[in-house]
Amino acid sequence: MSVYFDHNASSTLLPEVLDTMLPLMSGTHGNASSLHGSGRLLRSAIETARGQVAALVGVSPAQVVFTGGGTEANNLALKGSVDACSAPRLMSSPIEHASLLEPLRQLKDQGAGVEWLPVGGDGCVDVQVAAERIAAHRPQWLSLQRANNETGVLQPVAEVAALAREHGAERLHCDATQMAGKGPLSFDALGVDLMTLSAHKFGGPQGVGALILRPGVCLQPLLAGGPQEQGMRAGTENAALIAGFGKAAEMVAKELPEREAFLLELRTRFERRLKEIEGVVIFGAAAERLPNTSFFAIPYYHGETLLMELDKAGFALASGSACHSEVTRPSHVLTAMGVDEDLALNAVRVSLGMENSLQQVDRLIDALQQLINRLPAAMRQHHG
Ligand code: PMP
Repeated sequence: MSVYFDHNASSTLLPEVLDTMLPLMSGTHGNASSLHGSGRLLRSAIETARGQVAALVGVSPAQVVFTGGGTEANNLALKGSVDACSAPRLMSSPIEHASLLEPLRQLKDQGAGVEWLPVGGDGCVDVQVAAERIAAHRPQWLSLQRANNETGVLQPVAEVAALAREHGAERLHCDATQMAGKGPLSFDALGVDLMTLSAHKFGGPQGVGALILRPGVCLQPLLAGGPQEQGMRAGTENAALIAGFGKAAEMVAKELPEREAFLLELRTRFERRLKEIEGVVIFGAAAERLPNTSFFAIPYYHGETLLMELDKAGFALASGSACHSEVTRPSHVLTAMGVDEDLALNAVRVSLGMENSLQQVDRLIDALQQLINRLPAAMRQHHG
């Protein structure tokens, strides 16, 4: 088994989460809307989880709408809020996840106006520039992520949300998928109407997430059907996955400061030695970042080649964006940051998790160093 350094793509399932899910998958009948005992048991598991997820982000349980993951929550936040036929003015950043960029592109094709909040070379939306763009475009709907999945750079969501609100925005959304479980996350402090979460980024199962709503916000469901999730998400709830999500939320909420400190200790150790490699560039290092993420490039080493070599040596990393791993295009995040295309193609991401150790980090750096030493000296000097 290789050492896993790809927790931003999907984190390791917590054993307690599996223990919570298994009895709900194997020993129960019915559906959470059934009135008999088995149905009530599933309903009760879902409502416990709703409370646990709500507590993680400081809201009341009624504000949680469970979805089939972060992708669905992002689509619901946009398409459930906006009627493209009325040509709404929408605004977002070019470094959002594909699950927001693609539905934005679809709405644009249907007549919506879409404007962008530019990102600086540090990977961060500049509040000053955002203020000008918001004043000029006066978006009705705006979305900005809290933390980027590739660079880990944190975005000034509260500041941008306040500006947008001043200029009449009706619906504000934040994709907080990468922030949950890695740092403090308060829905109210962000000042948005909608916020996306995904369980598998912090020890929960894949295929379940949530959209957090400001009280009173109502959304058009993506699929027509039953009245589940306050009429905003039709379809029988997946009680086991939801319960696992709740358990993961409960566990990370309890240990957040320790988690943050440990992840930062690992990352600091990693980057201290990484910086000794000649010519290495760490993207977003000048900005505030998630504690577990290090996105870097070695100028003379193609990212995917490096990734394969490290895989052979027993380390699992990501190149560019894991979500587009079959396409060798430079990452859209690095492109938005103005990173040169050749350098961007060398980008590799380490995203740490709680089961990683200082020894594993040292072994990774040793392996990197060995791979570099194996390259012909002329190649290293040429670019160094
Ligand atoms: N937003 C961000 C920032 C993400 O990193 C991801 C997962 N890569 C998603 C949304 C989509 O979440 P899910 O995998 O649960 O659909």
